[in-house]
Amino acid sequence: MAIAKKCVRFLLNFNYRHPVTTGTLRRYSAGAGDTSQFDVAVIGGGIVGSASARELILKHPHLKVALVEKENRFAFHQSGNNSGVIHAGIYYKPGSLKAKLCVKGLNLSYKYFDQKGIKYSKCGKLIVATERSEVPRLFDLYERGLKNGVKDIQLMDSKEMKEIEPHCKGLQALWSPHTGIVSWAQVTDSYVKDFIECGGKTYLNFEVKKFIEAESAEYPVKIIDTENNVINAKYVLTCCGLHSDKVAVLTGCPEEPKIIPFRGEYLYLVPNKSKLTKTNIYPVPDPRFPFLGVHLTPRIDGRVIVGPNAILAFCKEGYRWGDYNMQELKEIIGFSGFRKMAMKYASFGIKEMIRSAITPLQVMQVRKYIQEITSADVERGPAGVRAQAMAKDGTLIEDFVFDSKPGHGAIGSRVLHCRNAPSPGATSSLAIAEMVVEKIEKEFKI
Ligand SMILES: Cc1cc2nc3c(=O)[nH]c(=O)nc-3n(C[C@H](O)[C@H](O)[C@H](O)COP(=O)(O)OP(=O)(O)OC[C@H]3O[C@@H](n4cnc5c(N)ncnc54)[C@H](O)[C@@H]3O)c2cc1C
Repeated sequence: MAIAKKCVRFLLNFNYRHPVTTGTLRRYSAGAGDTSQFDVAVIGGGIVGSASARELILKHPHLKVALVEKENRFAFHQSGNNSGVIHAGIYYKPGSLKAKLCVKGLNLSYKYFDQKGIKYSKCGKLIVATERSEVPRLFDLYERGLKNGVKDIQLMDSKEMKEIEPHCKGLQALWSPHTGIVSWAQVTDSYVKDFIECGGKTYLNFEVKKFIEAESAEYPVKIIDTENNVINAKYVLTCCGLHSDKVAVLTGCPEEPKIIPFRGEYLYLVPNKSKLTKTNIYPVPDPRFPFLGVHLTPRIDGRVIVGPNAILAFCKEGYRWGDYNMQELKEIIGFSGFRKMAMKYASFGIKEMIRSAITPLQVMQVRKYIQEITSADVERGPAGVRAQAMAKDGTLIEDFVFDSKPGHGAIGSRVLHCRNAPSPGATSSLAIAEMVVEKIEKEFKI
């Protein structure tokens, strides 16, 4: 009992470091009370909104475009709190948006980083099977990767694998040499900088709380924030991550797919153990879940992270165990899809929670690959919260979802919502932006 109490106290008091990175773009924000008029207002200054706003203004320099963010800097949520991996596109169902946009996004990303001098490393990735039962699934992944057009992937036996990563053990591995690492927060800031340089206007600390139909025939959408500041727009694109369901409802769209927040907690390897891996080491993922599993990832700042796990967060921005919002929690539990999913995967969820509380159990997940890592070699690291879209029947929606299903009235037909952009959303951001802008051109006749 005393141990249980201690555990609960530890978890509630424990502070994950949020945010991981610091943005630098506050100075660009417009003053409060600004009532400007725009052809398109993009709501949400994560990597998807920023990339889309940038692409829109690059392609249509005559347009007046606003990028609107509720926090005091860009990339505050998912885009600044993730694994920092440039995914190659192996995992995703052939033909899905994820498969197409990730492969294209990786190529566009490397080109962009070179142009802008953004630091990255093409350090590659090993997906490692440590148990016999995982080997057929690893072969399936290899076939999938080939179908998706992922370049230069290679199946390896343990001897070949050791040539790449001498400390790693496993039965068989899939090597992806073009997987890389970067700071996606830095990339987001760079997109925003491009956007501003092309004449785009940014609003920080502007939390959209409602859309109303304006009398103006030219700018029929009034976007109002929690302080009653107003932006007028002809058209709107929303990319609100964890809040995408709520923001869609504001324009008369259905709340489903509902966003269920799953926290992903990381550990850091202590600096003197960082040399144990120079590449990304991933497990063979459990096909029941859209998450890729606990992995070892070198960061661009030189540290190595271990994680993320997948824990139900008690509110949309639940970065710590102690973060909760009663209203949001009630909505999660009240959602029939969540209850169905929770019943189905209760034992997985409980195990994840126990592993979160007991660090040595989390470490055991990576000791399968690198035995030299012990509990003494890790310290608590950052956390991110995934916006996971879920259908009413409890299905976790894997693919990206861009919804132009009109909401009510004049406003509904002028808004496009990005409703689901989970991993590899950052890698895919430039490709998503191209697709979103094509949708905007087509649907809004811009
Ligand atoms: C733990 C974790 C690990 C991941 N690892 C990787 C990885 O290694 N590689 C990869 O490619 N992808 C990864 N991803 C996925 C990637 O981070 C996301 O796909 C991407 O960041 C989504 O970007 P976004 O702009 O849609 O969302 P966000 O970054 O969450 O941005 C949404 C923005 O909308 C704003 N907003 C919300 N509501 C309002 C409102 N009412 N008014 C104004 N603004 C509002 C929010 O403040 C936020 O800034 C990971 C994600 C997580 C959580």
